[in-house]
Amino acid sequence: MTYEAYLGYDRAQLLEKLQAKVSSKRLAHMLAVEETSKRLARQYGVDSEKAGLAGLLHDYAKECPDQVFLDIIDREGLDQDLKNWGNNVWHGLLGGYVIAAELGVTDQEILTSIARHTVGAAGMSQLDKIVYVADYIEPTRNFPGVEVARLLADQSLESAVAYETAKTIAYLTQKGLPIYPETLATYNAYCPYLPTDAY
Ligand code: GDP
Ligand code: FE
Ligand code: FE
Repeated sequence: MTYEAYLGYDRAQLLEKLQAKVSSKRLAHMLAVEETSKRLARQYGVDSEKAGLAGLLHDYAKECPDQVFLDIIDREGLDQDLKNWGNNVWHGLLGGYVIAAELGVTDQEILTSIARHTVGAAGMSQLDKIVYVADYIEPTRNFPGVEVARLLADQSLESAVAYETAKTIAYLTQKGLPIYPETLATYNAYCPYLPTDAY
């Protein structure tokens, strides 16, 4: 299915909406995740249009004010504990509500992959893994370990998911930041796929 079939309008119109919503730096990252998601989708036999659209949209809600997410938690009757987290967790987990409302996306697989792009999940679909990994390895990313993550992504999505999650947890603990329980569940589910020589 084309972007237009998912959205009811074409990619050029979508880009106008994205430009109005996020900074040009953020949009450049989202476009890079779109490209990387499409490439991984072709490599792993996943629908590349679907992966591209999910990748392009994944950070749509990242610049929303906190109150937007706090209101969603109340309106949707979600666990009040979610309010103790912050934008880093909210823009992923709750981004789909904003994307569905403002862009008219209804495809559940796309919305789930966006919900899981930051903290992952124990049983991710191929599409979920692709968006999660593409977010980490897209070409403009430049941090220690990104080269290893790119090599692993060529070999197996599961090993790349495991490596990315291990690195994220190490980063969070070094900074003294709290780890969302789903992030630990992702690590526990995928750490068996970590090559022993990855570090
Ligand atoms: P980005 O939106 O493209 O920058 O990437 P992500 O959505 O993957 O991550 C956004 C931020 O959330 C990063 O700084 C991550 O380190 C952070 N993050 C990822 N998992 C967790 C978690 O479990 N807890 C907390 N507190 N932050 C997390
Ligand atoms: Fe994100
Ligand atoms: Fe991102």
